[in-house]
Amino acid sequence: MIERTELYGNGQWFTPSGSDVFDVINPATEEILGRIPAATTEDADRAVAAAVAAADAWGRTSVAERTGYLTRILEGLTSRGEEIARTITSEVGMPLKLSRRIQAGLPVAVLDSYIRLLSGYAFEERIGSSLVVREPVGVALCITPWNYPLHQVIAKVAPALAAGCTVVLKPSEVAPLSAFILAEIIHDAGVPAGVFNLITGSGEEVGEYLVRHVDTDMISFTGSLRAGRRVAELAAATVKRVTLELGGKSAAVILDDADLPTAVKSVVGACFINSGQTCNAQTRLLVHESRYETAAALAIAAASAYAPGDPQDDTTRLGPLVSAAQRERVRDFIRQGSAAGAVLLTGGAEPPDGMDSGYFVRPTLFGRVTPDMVIAREEIFGPVLSIMTYRDEEDAVQIANSTQYGLAAAVWSGDAERAARIARRLKAGQVDINGGGFNLLAPFGGCKQSGYGRELGHHGLEEFLELKAMQFKE
Ligand code: NAD
Repeated sequence: MIERTELYGNGQWFTPSGSDVFDVINPATEEILGRIPAATTEDADRAVAAAVAAADAWGRTSVAERTGYLTRILEGLTSRGEEIARTITSEVGMPLKLSRRIQAGLPVAVLDSYIRLLSGYAFEERIGSSLVVREPVGVALCITPWNYPLHQVIAKVAPALAAGCTVVLKPSEVAPLSAFILAEIIHDAGVPAGVFNLITGSGEEVGEYLVRHVDTDMISFTGSLRAGRRVAELAAATVKRVTLELGGKSAAVILDDADLPTAVKSVVGACFINSGQTCNAQTRLLVHESRYETAAALAIAAASAYAPGDPQDDTTRLGPLVSAAQRERVRDFIRQGSAAGAVLLTGGAEPPDGMDSGYFVRPTLFGRVTPDMVIAREEIFGPVLSIMTYRDEEDAVQIANSTQYGLAAAVWSGDAERAARIARRLKAGQVDINGGGFNLLAPFGGCKQSGYGRELGHHGLEEFLELKAMQFKE
């Protein structure tokens, strides 16, 4: 049992003013794994005041100083990597082998990328008679979800600190434990008091209070569309800057000249990773009508490698869903898919055989899904793939663009230029071509109701910077 009884603010751990707590559940066993404080508005005020007090001095530190602190944080993250991977596997349920690489490894890689980027970044430029400088926005409120808990935190905290912003972090109450480890690492790195502050609790209570707070200068939010809308609405009262990284319903368009076995296997993997609880999961596989039967057979074969199992086991590829609520939501979507007439190729709403505890769901494939079906439109956030068919390229583009979301997509073709031509027509923030991998320096984010703003690389840094133009008399 990991019991956290304190919050972090103004360079020290402090006892919350209230006594409410949140239990953290291990989704593989349904047992209580940890407990964290539910911060009060008084605690939130304390953290914001510390961030405000520290903002001016931190904003004026040199790039070299900030690089020094970030490097020490990187050392801490690296040395505690195994503990981070195990903690996140326990609270999220991602198989440990993947957690080591992604949940612990990705934050290290992202922080490292910012350390490298910072030294070469031009904070100033001359435009005619003007000196244009990029200055930190001030106090950044970072609100993060549970699915890649530390990655989403680092994708905000690293650029915020690099930019010279001070931070109030409100991580997900569902998977908050790695944020406490990060606070310890930041403390041990000697980061000045008030630069980083950790407040835990519910989104509706302390989250909304921080969003409304007149002294938080910007909000970097990652989470659901529902909560993102609310954050933007509340933030409008103080006209603070908001970036929103929300949900997705990403399409993988497999063109008729693609290597079908490779493409289908890759799409199934990109749908099922983290049990489908990934914002840019490829949840719609679009294949030419003439190749539907072959694609469906290949997908069934690929899905058979994802038997649900104990995430602590090194051979497991599919862990549980994060919570009972999430499991019920996903099962309900599966029932809706069958009721709407989609063909259940494998999986289904019943619990997987022999799994009496844990929030496990069968990896599920639907065939002959049409764009009007709920399972083709809504973000399911579970291991459920919809296979859809198209008549021609035009039809494929139209189907791919037919949801409210615009986060990610994929295109597969024997001809990379043809794939890129289709990729340009897709309304999405990123498009992977022929299995092109995640690029840490490329902008990550969405369009339409997947949100606005970008993370990672210099585009991510710039979300935390304000432009100022100083005109000199010539
Ligand atoms: P969520 O919206 O329930 O919660 C996200 C965070 O927002 C949590 O910290 C929560 O406490 C807080 N929150 C909730 N309501 C709030 C409110 N009214 N005011 C302020 N804060 C509030 O989302 P979740 O269930 O934790 O995460 C899953 C969602 O996140 C999915 O929709 C997924 O697609 C999305 N997501 C998006 C990205 C991306 O980069 N686009 C990445 C990961 C996850």
